[in-house]
Amino acid sequence: MSALESTNRIAVVGAGIAGAACAASLQEAGVQVTLFDKSRAVGGRMSTRRAAWADGDGTECTAEFDHGAQALTARQPRFRAMLARAESAGVVARWQHRVHATWPAPGVREAWVATPGMPALVRHLARGVPQRLAQAVQRLHRTAEGWHLVLAGGETAGPFDQVVLALPPAQAAVLLAGHHDRWADSLAAVPMAPCWTLMAATADVDWPWDAAEPARGPLAWVARNDRKPGRNTPRGVATWVAQATPAWSAAHLEADPATVAEALRHALQGLLPPRLAGEPPLAWHHASVHRWRYAVPADRSSLDGRECWWDADRGLGVCGDFFNGGNVEAAWRSGDELADTVAAWLEQPHDTPVAPEAIRHPAPAANTEAAEAA
Ligand SMILES: Cc1cc2nc3c(=O)[nH]c(=O)nc-3n(C[C@H](O)[C@H](O)[C@H](O)COP(=O)(O)OP(=O)(O)OC[C@H]3O[C@@H](n4cnc5c(N)ncnc54)[C@H](O)[C@@H]3O)c2cc1C
Repeated sequence: MSALESTNRIAVVGAGIAGAACAASLQEAGVQVTLFDKSRAVGGRMSTRRAAWADGDGTECTAEFDHGAQALTARQPRFRAMLARAESAGVVARWQHRVHATWPAPGVREAWVATPGMPALVRHLARGVPQRLAQAVQRLHRTAEGWHLVLAGGETAGPFDQVVLALPPAQAAVLLAGHHDRWADSLAAVPMAPCWTLMAATADVDWPWDAAEPARGPLAWVARNDRKPGRNTPRGVATWVAQATPAWSAAHLEADPATVAEALRHALQGLLPPRLAGEPPLAWHHASVHRWRYAVPADRSSLDGRECWWDADRGLGVCGDFFNGGNVEAAWRSGDELADTVAAWLEQPHDTPVAPEAIRHPAPAANTEAAEAA
């Protein structure tokens, strides 16, 4: 049993991959961790949506769509090592995808996906960590006993010795206000790009590609969701996820979802091979959209180039994708780095907080052979 066990209680708020990585690593170091999230499931922006429709016979069909993160790339050795362990556990798989010829460098690419859907990796990391889901943290409150989390509904959780916020920047800023105003101001200034995402199901046709990054039009990325490994899709059905560009999403941010769905469906249809004379029109079984108002950081110029933030005096930490570049690997690295920093501090006598310059900044990995970003 670690010396840290039973003495330190840490609340990690946010059960996306950054929070899950941080919580799991702290728990492994012997800290008592509780993971909070406002959603009913862990995953954050690594998430799936289920859709249902009736087929031609009136039979109900369902399919799940990765409507947030599509796939992962792995550049840093620690992240690659974690993925290798997850692969052995059957939680991630390599996805070889043929990219549509409009992409400047057509061909087969490889990336990682979690199976059977993207949240599976976060679930795997957070397994064994006590979780309080469907608990939105509305406010932090500090007393002589420690930190208290005021939850939606008025209940309070705590006290905790330290709090880690693994939230998108705007949500973290709200909770930091009054406790760490400099951090709160920096995070409130991080711009996030929106993303309208189409989830569609059509009749299956042997299209010659699995993904596309169109150079023109409203769509930035299209994937055949059913062609990722381990997806459960009804026979004879193709499922599609199509993401609009940040500019198109911003221009249509407040548009009616039905109008957006039709515009994106039309754009997707335009990418598909034309029907041959005499062929029936393609059957569309389902089309719906999700609006990510805050999908990915548009830039992080207001941050100070760190992997994460840790303030030992206040017992406050912040991690998330926005520190490192706005993708899954960046988020995992930030959470993992914060856990290391906190665990190192907890091992020291508590009146000698880690100086900010002692926080490690890993050198870029030499090994960058991993698959290109999806
Ligand atoms: C449409 C889209 C496509 C993407 N595609 C890719 C891709 O292909 N490859 C890639 O690498 N990355 C991609 N990304 C980015 C990737 O998903 C994120 O970088 C990563 O998942 C962020 O993880 P995180 O843990 O930092 O934050 P999040 O996943 O956002 O986790 C934050 C968690 O905090 C919770 N929360 C928020 N407020 C509160 C509160 N007050 N109380 C309690 N809980 C709260 C949320 O419910 C959420 O679960 C994509 C993102 C989007 C939206």
